[in-house]
Amino acid sequence: MTAKSQAVSIRLDATVELDQRWARVLARDRSADGQFWYSVATTGVYCRPSCPSRTANPRNVALHGSLAEAKATGFRPCKRCNPDGPSVDVENAAIIAKACRLIEDSEEVPSLTSLAKAANLSTSYFHRLFKRVTGLTPKDYAEAHQASRVRDRLAKGHRVTEAMYDAGFNSSGRFYEKSKNMLGMTPTRYRAGGANEDIRFAVGQSSLGAILVASSDKGVASILIGDDPDGLVRDLQDRFPNARLVGGDREYESMVVQVIGFVEAPRLGLNLPLDVRGTAFRRRVWLALQDI
Ligand SMILES: [Zn+2]
Repeated sequence: MTAKSQAVSIRLDATVELDQRWARVLARDRSADGQFWYSVATTGVYCRPSCPSRTANPRNVALHGSLAEAKATGFRPCKRCNPDGPSVDVENAAIIAKACRLIEDSEEVPSLTSLAKAANLSTSYFHRLFKRVTGLTPKDYAEAHQASRVRDRLAKGHRVTEAMYDAGFNSSGRFYEKSKNMLGMTPTRYRAGGANEDIRFAVGQSSLGAILVASSDKGVASILIGDDPDGLVRDLQDRFPNARLVGGDREYESMVVQVIGFVEAPRLGLNLPLDVRGTAFRRRVWLALQDI
């Protein structure tokens, strides 16, 4: 190697090490997957940033801004990180989205074991992955869906027992025990459009759009997400035509803003379908309000 080419290669080494992308490779940053790739001259493979293999010497590494550029090296795709496929985050989100659909399509709340089995994962890993991707346990997600089914049926004027069985409750004891947390009032009053209830509400902003939160003095009655704040208020009026709706309550508004700020996690579940993210977010707000 001539002195001149050595000088050039030293400059190249420094380029990779000083490149901010290299720090993300060192951190095996999964969120960097799909944004760039790197190839390793000594092993003749190219990888995604989060590749679990032993870190290569940056001296032998080249960074690539596109998959096509990585392929153009003529190197092989790494068998461990599958750089040609979707990122691990995208794959995980797809697994969890499928589990969410399974929950939504089930008559009754599916067991953790059956969900894990359908996902081809161990129970404990599935549970952890679900929590990491949605911020909720599978049971929380299932209960959110069940509760929204009950609210939907009651709002449409179905009989209380009908709504109960439709949502997969087998015993009225368990249903009534849970109904206060699901509805913020008795099922009969909910079905009657919130008759004789005072319902305070506040509208805030979240990473998923405008969010309306409404509570009776017994608990949370409604959480709505949408693009248009006025539209959300109209939806609330449609659902509770016989309640006294109270807006502009300072104390309530500041509590709602605080809870949303606390629960908000804009990067959580980015690869999930929007409606699944909405359900998960509403549920997290609902649970946080219940804890107060
Ligand atoms: Zn790799």
